[in-house]
Amino acid sequence: MDIRIGNGYDVHALAPGLPMWLGGVQIPSETGFVAHSDGDVAIHALCDALLGALALGDIGHLFPDTSDEWKGVDSKLLLEKVVALIHEKGYRVGNADITIALQRPKLAPHIQAMRETLAPILGVSADRVSVKATTTERLGFVGRCEGCEVWASAVLLQP
Ligand code: MG
Repeated sequence: MDIRIGNGYDVHALAPGLPMWLGGVQIPSETGFVAHSDGDVAIHALCDALLGALALGDIGHLFPDTSDEWKGVDSKLLLEKVVALIHEKGYRVGNADITIALQRPKLAPHIQAMRETLAPILGVSADRVSVKATTTERLGFVGRCEGCEVWASAVLLQP
């Protein structure tokens, strides 16, 4: 069996009056993400982890933000396309682990919904999708509520 590991990282700026999508779930919030797509920074990091595991580049390369095709796109659609690409290459997802750094709002009430939203797109059960959230204790751009930072890891298996 071939085992591949990948990691992904993404940041989006926050601004008032925009929707906040994270892990495929809309989070009630006074601020949301500035982005060409729906700004789901968690899904973007996850896509890059999956692509990284097979050295397939990154989502900026696959879905350029200069293209009108991806303007305002639901990031779940981008994830579906990335997973399809992985299946095409003969791999399946083993597990994924995502860490979201956001000062507010608190994400704890939404973690389970994110896991249950992402798992079927990844083709795994929710116990193979971990989503963790942390603040940065008011330090840095995350702590000043200027943006959100996400790290993701994924393991791919080729039976
Ligand atoms: Mg992004």
